[in-house]
Amino acid sequence: MQVRSARLWMPERVIFTPAALAEPYAQQILARVQALNLPVEELPRNRLTGLRGESDRETYDIAKRTLAVVTAPPSALKLSPIPPSADWQFHLAEGCPAHCQYCYLAGSLQGPPVIRVFANLPQILANTASYEQPGKATSFEVSCYTDPLGIEHLTGSLAECIRHFGTRQDGYLRWVSKFDNVDSLLALPHNGHTRCRVSVNAAPISGRFEGGTASVGARLQALRKLALPRSQGGGGYPVGLVIAPIMDMEDWESHYTQLFDAISAALDFECDLTFELISHRFTPGSKEVLLSWYPQTKLDMDESKRSVKRNKFGGTKYVYDSDTMRELRRFFERQIQQRFPQAKVLYWT
Ligand code: SF4
Repeated sequence: MQVRSARLWMPERVIFTPAALAEPYAQQILARVQALNLPVEELPRNRLTGLRGESDRETYDIAKRTLAVVTAPPSALKLSPIPPSADWQFHLAEGCPAHCQYCYLAGSLQGPPVIRVFANLPQILANTASYEQPGKATSFEVSCYTDPLGIEHLTGSLAECIRHFGTRQDGYLRWVSKFDNVDSLLALPHNGHTRCRVSVNAAPISGRFEGGTASVGARLQALRKLALPRSQGGGGYPVGLVIAPIMDMEDWESHYTQLFDAISAALDFECDLTFELISHRFTPGSKEVLLSWYPQTKLDMDESKRSVKRNKFGGTKYVYDSDTMRELRRFFERQIQQRFPQAKVLYWT
């Protein structure tokens, strides 16, 4: 399997709002971007403006080359549950430098997809403590609106989160990535309170639809480093694989078997391992946004081949029909059971 690291993302513009610059934590981000010789601007006001192009695609291009350091609004301190992945979600940033043509952020974040990093992270982290239930493990997902490793070289925010949860009695952190630059995380005092996951997929999907990411081989090598015991130079973290989005493509069984072969080769030692299995789905809103970002995409979003699933708020999702779902699910669960009998499958969706 090809091992190709992701090129570290270097934004063309780094903009700070005045409120962000007033946060002591922003100085760490400022020092990092200056050390990389990236051009820094301070905006006159706290609003991000001037980031729209002539078309949606041009706006996308401008946004994906821009890092904005802002303060998260007060609403960021009111956390939402995120079943089945974790008890709560919080955000160190919104937006992602990669270019996945099925991106989960399409339709869930408003406005141009600028990568916004939060300068009041210490406040956001301190706030999570009020959501912990004493005496009961409480989990927090930090990758719902960003790929935290994809911007770690510019922010150091993921390390900050890992250190924070390493000091908690009952709080546990979870993050997931399609990048592979994990070396700066290996020696952190995580105290077993952070589960690091990589998101992987079969070669035809990762090769065609996941622009700007590390190859799946590189992600698996990164996971291996994170999982290896400290005595062997690794991070000694609990780890996980998120296989997503699982697609009913031609020859899926053989492509996903090859993926499992690669996972088995990378994790050929005992470790604390979980799996999360997510089948491909889309909504009318996400389809519209994705087609404006990637007008030439070959991603299959044909509603006539899907079943409709409605949520309690009246929203519509297009998912695979129940026979296809059952067949896929059976295959994945059997592979995991045979190859990793100690691992836990957290959910299939
Ligand atoms: Fe979207 Fe995740 Fe891909 Fe980033 S890595 S573009 S958040 S799907």
